[in-house]
Amino acid sequence: MSSNAPWLPSAGAATETAGGGGNGEPSHESQVIVDPNDPRLTSEPLDVAVDKDAYAQPVPLPDRVWRAKLKLEGIKRDNGERVDFEAAQTNKTPILPYYHTGISASIIDPTGAFDGITVYPAFGGRVSTLLRRDKSSTVATVLSKLTRADGKPYVTLGMRLSQQDWIHLLLQALAGEPECGVETQWEWTCAVCTKELTDLRNAGKSDKYPVSIRGMNRFPAQQDKQKRAAGILYDPEMQCQVNKAHAFSRAFPKIVRFLSLAELK
Ligand SMILES: [Zn+2]
Repeated sequence: MSSNAPWLPSAGAATETAGGGGNGEPSHESQVIVDPNDPRLTSEPLDVAVDKDAYAQPVPLPDRVWRAKLKLEGIKRDNGERVDFEAAQTNKTPILPYYHTGISASIIDPTGAFDGITVYPAFGGRVSTLLRRDKSSTVATVLSKLTRADGKPYVTLGMRLSQQDWIHLLLQALAGEPECGVETQWEWTCAVCTKELTDLRNAGKSDKYPVSIRGMNRFPAQQDKQKRAAGILYDPEMQCQVNKAHAFSRAFPKIVRFLSLAELK
């Protein structure tokens, strides 16, 4: 299980390889005494790329289909406890119970540029056993894209399981961190609107969700010449359209579709 929280969508082990903004700064809690005259400090010239900005935000993953490794994130409760999954219920009639959990995908990119970046499913990073109007469920859809170690599918047409059996089957499948395909798309919402509307919804005063924009080609053209030259054609920063005082928020890549390895070819 990764320590990356679902609400930190771009946090990944390899953000440093994705164009700067590295998170590999040493911990200040370290107790190790380092010799200030270590020859690695005093004698070896550093190969610093002085034209790069160490404070630049990493470039979001471009919209496309990737091979990825699926992982269970589970759910972090308010008291800090982490559980593999939990029961919840719909907030509108008909009130229906279901199980849900958080999952993530770690991108496999042989070029190295985006390798190891963690992405989360759209709509909150959760998958659930709740039946949608077309009788699909996000848990069953993810499972249908995975195969067991012996090559057999987890899901067969017409199979009937309780919600508990579905969530247990998902946990069983994710235990091996299986590979599959994921299609990612930039998703933007105003951070301030999101916070305000979440507070109102939690207080039962509104059922509104913030305006969201999906797809990198709906973002402003990248003005930075260096970034354009590197193939980064869009700028993930966009201003709030509802209230200019909310200023700019940033798009994050989200999983909008799961694919089997066979569909990836
Ligand atoms: Zn806003």
